Amino acid sequence: QQAIERDVVVVGAGPAGLMAARRLKEAGKSVAVLEARDRVGGRTWSNVIDGAFLEIGGQWISPDQTVLLDLADELGLETFARYREGESVYIAPDGTRHTYSGHMFPASEKTQQEMDKLIGILDELAAEVGAKEPWAAEKARELDTVSFHDWLRRNSDDEEACNNIGIYIAGGMLTKPSHAFSALQAVLMAASAGSFSNLVDEDFILDRRVVGGMQSVSETMAEQLGVDEGTEVVEGGTDAVVFLNSAVRTIQWAGEGETYEEHDPDYTVRVFSDRVTVKAKDVVVAVPPNLYSRISFEPPLPRFQHQMHQHQSLGIVIKVHAVYETPFWREKGLSGTGFGANELSQEVYDNTNHGDERGTLVGFVSDEKADEVFRLPAEERKRRILESLAHYLGDEALEPVVYYESDFGSEEWTRGAYAASYDLGGLHRYGAIQSEPVGPIRWACSDLAAEGYQHVDGALRQGALAAEQIVEARNA
Ligand code: FAD
Repeated sequence: QQAIERDVVVVGAGPAGLMAARRLKEAGKSVAVLEARDRVGGRTWSNVIDGAFLEIGGQWISPDQTVLLDLADELGLETFARYREGESVYIAPDGTRHTYSGHMFPASEKTQQEMDKLIGILDELAAEVGAKEPWAAEKARELDTVSFHDWLRRNSDDEEACNNIGIYIAGGMLTKPSHAFSALQAVLMAASAGSFSNLVDEDFILDRRVVGGMQSVSETMAEQLGVDEGTEVVEGGTDAVVFLNSAVRTIQWAGEGETYEEHDPDYTVRVFSDRVTVKAKDVVVAVPPNLYSRISFEPPLPRFQHQMHQHQSLGIVIKVHAVYETPFWREKGLSGTGFGANELSQEVYDNTNHGDERGTLVGFVSDEKADEVFRLPAEERKRRILESLAHYLGDEALEPVVYYESDFGSEEWTRGAYAASYDLGGLHRYGAIQSEPVGPIRWACSDLAAEGYQHVDGALRQGALAAEQIVEARNA
């Protein structure tokens, strides 16, 4: 294969990789973005399924996610607010159903007090530890060596309060059981959204959506860069920037005898993908860390990188879409929002599209509950999930006109949701080197972000940062 030559090669055309390419091009650099899939957007993806427009991956924006909001403006994309009029539903541990307004579940007074106490402690810790360098905090090791499950119970003897607070981070964000990650990881999640209080406020964290879907952020960036959607081998003579169907298999990043500490900045990197080979001076790897080991690095990455990547993993969640002829819950004075730590779908929201007459609900079946229902035949899984939605909003929920389960766990180029987190003890042990370049290779993805960690906004921040660092280093 004849190589094409560019200043920078980016691996992955998700929000992070495309933002890196956009900012590099603006700074006058030539770029190639190599994407494994036959589409851009990565973990953001919209599709029309049985006549319904569905956002299969990431979709919501919170007000602090200013890089994403500014980019949407820059790209001429509009946003709209999630429907939230009316009462929410809480399903207590004993299965009883309660409606309520405001942000606090209608639990007993003691449970509410305990939840307030836990939120207060987590807000303080989030402010103290921060999102930028949680591994450097004084309490980093102490918090990173206790599971979030145990940490909650050390701070409260109210099981209902511990479970209610636990699901915001566990099922709700990291999509792992709360025994599988540390209290430090939970504090990072809270700090990355500004505070724990922000995370538990669905009006904040799930505030807006992009008209036309979040994937259009990536699609618009890619269109402006120029896309080659083909499947044939590229032999040069192309101005395209984004190459689809081009899974990167090997990155040759240093000459013989060179180490990452003593890297010749003029060394020409060679990146081999399924249909394009690129020669460049710099590389941005914009894929989640659980996929780094799908690429052969020549020479191998340093020891601690190898170790670190084995401690970062994605959780699993089924994002359930159910479309109805009308948003029937609204007629009952319900917002469509519901929570129940013991429910199969721990959360449910009105996810009706902009300007749509039909009503759409979205539910989330996370971590061990997802494992359980993925072992069932599809029809039984659907029945169980719809029954859970019906517990919140009534039996009308049992009969959607369109039903769809997002399953990123089965996607070869993602393998889970929503983003990577460390196993117990991993964050304080490896976090400090997670964004360190290795020779000419920089890392950018939402999984490594501080603000906007795990979110599209964080991915964009990471992409912009990698571009800025390359431009700064090359123009120095
Ligand atoms: P990705 O989007 O994963 O992009 C990486 C790209 O790299 C992919 O296109 C992949 O195909 C490609 N790739 C991987 N390996 C290779 C290789 N070897 N060669 C070439 N290409 C490769 N975020 C929000 O902000 N709001 C939400 O509401 C929200 N909900 C979510 C719901 C679901 C179901 C999921 C899965 C995610 C959700 N997220 C949400 C998270 C958000 O989508 C991600 O954080 C974001 O897409 C990450 O962007 P990225 O560019 O870092 O990585």
